[in-house]
Amino acid sequence: MAGEMSLDAVIVGAGFSGLYMLHRLRQQGLSARVYEAGTGVGGTWYWNRYPGARVDIESQEYSYSFSPELDEEWVWSERYATQPELLKYLNHVADRFDLRRDLQFETRVTAARFDEATSRWTVTNDRGEVVTARYCIMATGCLSVANEPAFPGAETFKGPTWHTGRWPKEGVDFTGQRVAVIGTGSSAIQSIPQIAAQADHVTIFQRTPNFSVPAYNGPRDPAVVADWAANRAQYRAEARETGFGIRMVAQGEQPALEATPEQRRAEYERRWQIGGFALLGAFTDLITDTTANDTAAEFVREKIRGIVKDPATAEKLAPKSFPIGSKRLCVDTDYYATFNRDNVSLVDLRDEAIEAITATGVKTSAQDYAADAIVYAIGFDAMTGALGKIDIQGRGGQTLTDHWAAGPRTYLGLMIAGFPNLFIVTGPGSPSVLCNMAVAIEQHVEWISDCIQYLGQRQLGAIEATAAAQDEWVAHVNEVADTTIYPLGNSWYLGANVPGKPRVFMPYIGGFPVYRDKCNAVAANGYEGFALSSDAR
Ligand code: FAD
Ligand code: NAP
Repeated sequence: MAGEMSLDAVIVGAGFSGLYMLHRLRQQGLSARVYEAGTGVGGTWYWNRYPGARVDIESQEYSYSFSPELDEEWVWSERYATQPELLKYLNHVADRFDLRRDLQFETRVTAARFDEATSRWTVTNDRGEVVTARYCIMATGCLSVANEPAFPGAETFKGPTWHTGRWPKEGVDFTGQRVAVIGTGSSAIQSIPQIAAQADHVTIFQRTPNFSVPAYNGPRDPAVVADWAANRAQYRAEARETGFGIRMVAQGEQPALEATPEQRRAEYERRWQIGGFALLGAFTDLITDTTANDTAAEFVREKIRGIVKDPATAEKLAPKSFPIGSKRLCVDTDYYATFNRDNVSLVDLRDEAIEAITATGVKTSAQDYAADAIVYAIGFDAMTGALGKIDIQGRGGQTLTDHWAAGPRTYLGLMIAGFPNLFIVTGPGSPSVLCNMAVAIEQHVEWISDCIQYLGQRQLGAIEATAAAQDEWVAHVNEVADTTIYPLGNSWYLGANVPGKPRVFMPYIGGFPVYRDKCNAVAANGYEGFALSSDAR
C-alpha cells in the first residue's frame, strides 16, 4: 500500500474533461493528479473503439478551443473525425501540455469521503492508495459506464461477445461469422454497416427504431478548412452563442406550422442534403410542438421508405413512438441502405421479445437465431452511472446514492448540496449531452477553475451549494424540459434505459448561452446560491 498523498485537487477521469481540468489547475499553480481506470487518455474515445465510431459534430467544432496554437497546428482529416483520430488528438494534447506526469492510469477511484474537520476529501482507489485533497473533481463522463447485458443465459453463450463501449484495442475480425447485434442506438447505427461489410451474416435485434440522418462524411472540404482557419476565433465564439454549441447547425427562424407543406419539404430536403444535425434546426417549433415535430419525423420516415427496398423492413425501421430529437438523433453512413444487403436481417423485438441468450445464439419468443458472435450495442448507465459506482460521502456521512435516490439533484449541474468542494464536469442539470460536449466541457472546466482560484485568493476553505439554490435549479431544469418534446422519448436522458432507475430528465435544455450566462452571473455575484466558508486548515 502506497503512502498517503496530499494534493490541492484530485481529478477522476482522463477524457476531454479531466485533461483540460488538470491543465487549468496546473496553470494556477495547484497540485493535482488525475486517476483513470483505462490504460491511457481519451475517455469515450479510448473505450468506444467499435468499427465506424466517430463524432457526430463536425471535427473543427468538436475539439478544444482554449489554445489557439493547438487549434492551428492540429489538422483533422475527415468531416467527422474517427475514434482513432480523436484518440490521437487527445494523446497529442496530453503530450503537448506535458500532462502525463500527473496522470495515473489503470487506477479506479472507489471512494471519496468529505472530512468536515479539515474541509478536505479523502479519495481511495483500487490500488489501495489513499490521497487527500481540498477539491475533488469528477470528470467521470456522462456515457462511461456500459450497461451490462442482463439477458437470461447471457453467460452461456459459447462465442465471443462485445460491448461497443468496451471494444478491444486489437479490434475484432468478423470475417465468415454470423453476428447478432442487439440495439439500434447511435453506436449500433455506426457499427452495423461496417460489421455487415465484413461478416457472413448480421442479424439486428431492434427494440425501438431510431431516427438517423446521413453524415455525408468524407475528407474535409478545403473551403471549410480555409474559412475556419481565417475566422477561427469568431466561429468558435459564434458556436458558443448557439443553443447546442454548434455553429454549423444554423437555426431557422420560422415555425414549421406557419410554413406550407411545400416550404417545409423544401427546407427539410435542403437540410437533409447538408447532413448531420442540420435537420433539427429547420424550424423554431420542432422541439416544442409535437405537431410541428411530426412534420420532420414524417419527412425522415419517407426517406427511410425511399432507401429501404423491402417495404416491411422499411416500416419496421421507421420510428413512430417518439418525437424526432427527443432521443439523440443518430448520424450515419449507409445505415438504412445496409438493410438492402442480402446478408442483413432485422428482428423486431416488438413482435418477438428476446427470451434468452443460449449457447448458440439469441432466442426470441418466435425462434432461435444462430450466432457466432454477439455485439451488445445496448448503451450506458448515463449521466449518473460513473458517480454511482464511487462510494461518495459528503457532510455527515451522507452518501450520494442516498441523496440521489429519487434522481440526481444538483445546483447548475456543477455541485451538490451537502457535498462541499466536490465538482462535477457536465453533471446532471447542465446542458452536457444536449450540447456540443467540447463546448460544454470547456465552460465547466473554466468555471470550476475560476471558482477554485477565487476561493484560494480569499483564503476560503469550502464552497457548497445551498439546498435552496439546488431545489430552485432542479425545479427550473424540470420546468424547462416540460416545455419541450424531450421528456416524451423513452431515452437515456431520462434514465429510461436502465430498469429501476428513477425517471428524471437529467440534462438542461435551456440552451448553452442561457446556462453559461447564469453560471457567470452566479460567479459575478460572489457565488450566489453557494455557501462559502473560511479555511478550516
Ligand atoms: P469521458 O470521455 O467519458 O471520460 C471519463 C473517464 O473517466 C473515462 O475514461 C473513465 O474510464 C474514467 N472514469 C470514470 N469513473 C472512474 C473512476 N471511478 N475511476 C477512474 N476513472 C474513472 N459528444 C459530442 O458532443 N459529440 C459526439 O459526437 C459524441 N460522440 C460520442 C460517441 C460515443 C460512442 C459516446 C459514448 C459518447 C459520445 N459523445 C459525444 C459524448 C462524449 O462522452 C463526450 O463528448 C466527451 O468525450 C466526454 O468527455 P469526458 O472527459 O467528460 O468523459
Ligand atoms: P443507446 O442510444 O442507449 O442505444 C442502446 C440501444 O440498445 C437502443 O436501441 C436500446 O433500445 C437497445 N437496448 C438496450 N437494452 C436493451 C435490451 N435489454 N433489449 C433490447 N434492446 C436493448 O446507446 P448508444 O448507441 O451506445 O449511444 C449512447 C449515446 O452515446 C448516444 O445517444 C450519443 O449521445 C452517444 N454516441 C454518439 C455517437 C456518435 O454518433 N458520435 C455514437 C455512439 C454513441 P431502446 O431504444 O428500446 O431502449
